[in-house]
Amino acid sequence: MRKQGVILVIATLMAMILCGAVSATDSSTTGGEGNLSDVNNSEAVDPILWVNVGYEYADDKINPEIAVTDSNNDSVAFNKTKYSDTLYKLNFTYAGVTNGTLFNVIVRAPGYIAQTQQVAVNQAGTDPEFIGTVDFDMQATENYKLGRQITAAADNLLHFASADDVLCITTAGLAYRNGTTTEDCLEGILNGSHGEISYGQGNLLTFQSIRTDPVDFCFVVRNGSSLTAAFFKNGTLTPAYFGTFSAIDQTLWENTITTTLGEHAFGYVSLADAWKEGLSTDLLRQAAYHGHVCLGTLSGQAMISLLLKYYPPGVYGNSGELEATSYRAVSSPGNSDDDAYIYSLDLTTGKRSWVGYNTAEDNMVGFIRWCDTTKRGTLIIMRFNEEAVLQLYKQQTGNNAYTGIAGELAFNTWLINKLENDPDSLVEILYVFENITPAIHNNLTGGVDSKKVVCNALGLDMDYILGLNLTNVANQRVATNYTTGNLTLDQIKQIGIDAANMAIALFAAEGIDLEKDDYELTVFTSAGYVRVNEQVMDMTMDGIYQVLGSRLSRATLLPVHNARYNPLYFQFSLEKDGKVISKTLTYNSTDGSFIAKNGSSCIIDQVILYDPPYDSLMAWLWHNHVCGGSSPGYIITDWIYDNFPLGADEQYAMITASVSCRDDIYTYLLGLSPGQGNYYSERMTSDSTGNDILILSIYDSTTNTRRVIVVNYQGPHFTDGDPYENYIKLYKILQKYDDWNSPECQEELKTLTNMDRAPSITKTVDTYSTEEEWNSMISGNALEVAKSIPDRTKEDLIRLMSGSQTSNGDSTSQGTGSLFSTANGSNGLFGLSNGSNTSGVNVSAATVTNSTTSSVGAQPGEAKAYEVTQAGAQGSEGTPWGLYAVVGVIAVLALGGVGFFYKGGKF
Ligand SMILES: [Zn+2]
Ligand SMILES: [Zn+2]
Repeated sequence: MRKQGVILVIATLMAMILCGAVSATDSSTTGGEGNLSDVNNSEAVDPILWVNVGYEYADDKINPEIAVTDSNNDSVAFNKTKYSDTLYKLNFTYAGVTNGTLFNVIVRAPGYIAQTQQVAVNQAGTDPEFIGTVDFDMQATENYKLGRQITAAADNLLHFASADDVLCITTAGLAYRNGTTTEDCLEGILNGSHGEISYGQGNLLTFQSIRTDPVDFCFVVRNGSSLTAAFFKNGTLTPAYFGTFSAIDQTLWENTITTTLGEHAFGYVSLADAWKEGLSTDLLRQAAYHGHVCLGTLSGQAMISLLLKYYPPGVYGNSGELEATSYRAVSSPGNSDDDAYIYSLDLTTGKRSWVGYNTAEDNMVGFIRWCDTTKRGTLIIMRFNEEAVLQLYKQQTGNNAYTGIAGELAFNTWLINKLENDPDSLVEILYVFENITPAIHNNLTGGVDSKKVVCNALGLDMDYILGLNLTNVANQRVATNYTTGNLTLDQIKQIGIDAANMAIALFAAEGIDLEKDDYELTVFTSAGYVRVNEQVMDMTMDGIYQVLGSRLSRATLLPVHNARYNPLYFQFSLEKDGKVISKTLTYNSTDGSFIAKNGSSCIIDQVILYDPPYDSLMAWLWHNHVCGGSSPGYIITDWIYDNFPLGADEQYAMITASVSCRDDIYTYLLGLSPGQGNYYSERMTSDSTGNDILILSIYDSTTNTRRVIVVNYQGPHFTDGDPYENYIKLYKILQKYDDWNSPECQEELKTLTNMDRAPSITKTVDTYSTEEEWNSMISGNALEVAKSIPDRTKEDLIRLMSGSQTSNGDSTSQGTGSLFSTANGSNGLFGLSNGSNTSGVNVSAATVTNSTTSSVGAQPGEAKAYEVTQAGAQGSEGTPWGLYAVVGVIAVLALGGVGFFYKGGKF
């Protein structure tokens, strides 16, 4: 539909040329009516269309987007005047109008199906005016209806208006339903809750869903300290669970809640509990991204607090560099802490700000703060010591942390309090080394330069680091004190209102009227991520919405991933005449003013003209910019969904070897993250990887088998055109087809006449690996190990596992001597051959069973289960709740069997 903007311009220009109507440039906005009557020439008459727009939900007051085309489908420019909440008058100039001339009127509104109607204009009696009238009865989309209906059902049960607070946690947004993303469900929740739920209040939390996740909704109301929840499963309007969330005993938890709420049971319960305890909304969103609130994620937040306090941010590289971030992290995945700083400091793997595989304890991280002027850095190594924290908890409260669900929630509450008042007590700063040279940085991360890999990254290799014999200055800390703001929520909302009004004035000064609810206006903001004087700025988004109707669920108010300490800005990007006009207002926290500039702070405005798919846009926001490196990410993600759809009890994991911006796209859209223990980045040189960019793993918790695929990628080539437009057109075609080699898909690809080479994605390896092999892969040299695994079927692996169960260590012996084969299926688009016959790589079995570090054996399923049901089992030695831990393990296994790790939708 954005195309219409372009067409509109051309039509406008043509109309101007034809009619000499120069002043018609401000058509399609309100208030410019007076201009047109002056410009009629003898042939042109000015028809009037009265357009009445009603909505399926009568309480929806939306300013619709209206477009008009003539009988040749050429766009017609017009002036629009609002007469009532539903009635709009369009007048325009059009040559050669006679009685019965037909026009097409197209109406679009968020949450509704676009509608086109033909209307004829006629003269009535002696009236010289040609007039047409048309009524639109806008029908809601299925997803919008679902959002509205479920919200109404929840309100009916929970009585939002009389509750102290309302919360909604959902998988909607990125999950697909009937082939589309489900942001309309979110729009339905927001409109249906009549202001009780909004982005500004931070009470709409969305999990990091994948396409195949069921669309579930959990509404929670707080009355005093009591929480009541209504949970709606997979779009069903009858609640699957309706009852307490604040008085959950072990029986209710095990017999009802975990079985009913499924994979995210602990997520819903722990998020609701943390929300009740007042955890700030940015941290709630971070926890939702991670999947739940836990020791690891709160400890990760404590690490951030310490980092900002003792080692405040510097600037990496040139400040103009796209991937520049103030810190980088080298880490060992797992144990949840990684998700905290990746989210809150914007240290995404695609920006090469985070590198890690299993090289050290998974509760440790090294932060590098770099000074580009001196070319020297500081390496700060922290860890959260679970044992120590559990002991402190016991000492201060007399309680044990993991004594069942109630005990774990009580522990979380204590942790939230510690995070806010004494983060130092949760985290140890083990080492601080100064004078980190570029050579050391290169060795740890693969390259100071985010664009250039100079060696294979060692990651958090403590042997290497300690072997450097640097002086540990961890005890020489100087604390930075930050001022704490005291703005009220209303004052924060006012910042958004002021910014929106200032934007209206700035555009008006150029003769452009900004309309409310306009699809053509996109507001980019760092709100949602940044804090101003330690205060969360979410409420500014409600201020923007109030004035301009821009909202994330409409993809018109886009929070851009940012580090917490970055400035608050609002960027207003308007699509007009086939171009994007951007104006940015940056908030000055010292005096509350705005610094205005023409142009953008966030270059994602470069893609909005091409109307990218909602999920691709969300992934770009996560990356914080658009770029050539990230563009292939959506194609590869789509290929994975098409070729390896998850079955029930299956989970993805990924090891990337060739790391680039596109990694942020896969991790975001495939629900992968280091903190969940299902994403590893081994940043290697292209000499080491060739075009084998990543290893995809699909773990089946029912059979305990793991399929391993090495993905080989070669990008498309376009002869000309805008690169983003080219890629987005390609996304839209590929996204429609599960089989890219089907004649229909191939036929449609031919419409991309400027693409002289299609992308080629092939499988260098497609086999089944033992857990020993997998553990070896996630500990380094993943590609080499993967390529050494014999070609196996699932049945081969099951036989192998049952044959070697008791003899630890020789499970790969059967593979010795087998030649690696690439015979298993090329998926080359356009039938390109599988060009990577790497049969030369034949590592003997002995080299693939390298022992790994303490945390190995944590399969994604186990890692999650550990967190969810028996968190703390690792530290169970000598604690009196060993029995519970054992029961927990059994419960986890049982739940695993009944789809506890359900990820698959209906396969
Ligand atoms: Zn966790
Ligand atoms: Zn990038």
